[in-house]
Amino acid sequence: MKLLIAFFLSFSLHAVCVHEKTILGAQLPKLQKQYDVYAQTEEGSFKKLTKAISIQRYNVQLLPKSEKSFEKSGPFDRYNRKYVEYYTYPRMVKYLDTKREGLDAIGYQIQTVGKSLKGRNLFYVGPKTLDPTKKTIVMFGRHHGDEGTANWIIEGFLNQYINDKSFSDEFQLVLYPMVNPDGAMKKSRYNANGRDLNRSWDKELGEDEIVSIHGHLAPMLKKLSKVVIALDMHGSFEEDFIYRVKRSYKGEDFYNLQQKFIDELGIYDSWQNGNFHLSNGHPKMARLVLVTHYNLHALTHETIRNIRLKNRRGRTKQSLIEQGEAVVTAISNLY
Ligand SMILES: [Zn+2]
Repeated sequence: MKLLIAFFLSFSLHAVCVHEKTILGAQLPKLQKQYDVYAQTEEGSFKKLTKAISIQRYNVQLLPKSEKSFEKSGPFDRYNRKYVEYYTYPRMVKYLDTKREGLDAIGYQIQTVGKSLKGRNLFYVGPKTLDPTKKTIVMFGRHHGDEGTANWIIEGFLNQYINDKSFSDEFQLVLYPMVNPDGAMKKSRYNANGRDLNRSWDKELGEDEIVSIHGHLAPMLKKLSKVVIALDMHGSFEEDFIYRVKRSYKGEDFYNLQQKFIDELGIYDSWQNGNFHLSNGHPKMARLVLVTHYNLHALTHETIRNIRLKNRRGRTKQSLIEQGEAVVTAISNLY
């Protein structure tokens, strides 16, 4: 029985892109053995907690201790010798450049909707003229800088979107491929202010990079009448899955709508394989804001973030790209 409990505990710790809890300072030394512990400050930023007052409570995020070979800043050579290539901001710039012509041909544009705190571009890919009545897909990537695999999936998705004319004729795309470029270049979950950008959304607009992105998206969402799905692409620790709200959160029909997508995706994506976790999340998380305030069918897509080059399951960069293509197939079949 003890073993079984231990198994479930470790399982639940890994089935996340971060573990959040409130701790007493006295618990810190034990947690530090396994995790990098980040505590939330009064301003809402996260700072690495190295010392704590034993009777004080702290809201913390626990990230598994980074391996020594994980550079905290570019060019990620050591990382790339061991893991599937880390997806950087320059890669995003270069990739979008190669897609410019293809996007233009289908009536799409790449825009800069703002700058990160360190001055990097916040990209938006969307139609030159928005059609308010067309079926629409909303997608975000990289709220969390260190979750690089999400962007390979987005590449697979966008390539397929451009190439499959019947799909792009039927579905309109609103895409923010890299929300947190500064975090991406520091290999950090947080932005340059130490803010968790996926805990910074709210109806009145959040802060930092989210001001630009939410500010750009909100007026469009007011006009769009047929958003079929909103996907926020992330990277988990040990498994691929989808995060969705609990059955009681928005009723049976909504639950079933989400279940159908999860099942359909699982047919074409053998890594996700129908796997999901229930979480009503944080109220300022993109997914929760989209579900609650915009009434959208929003899900978080999680894929293992650090994939070893030598892995028994045969996962590669190409398999991530194919996961993006699977998203196109599932949407095309369902909506
Ligand atoms: Zn994440």
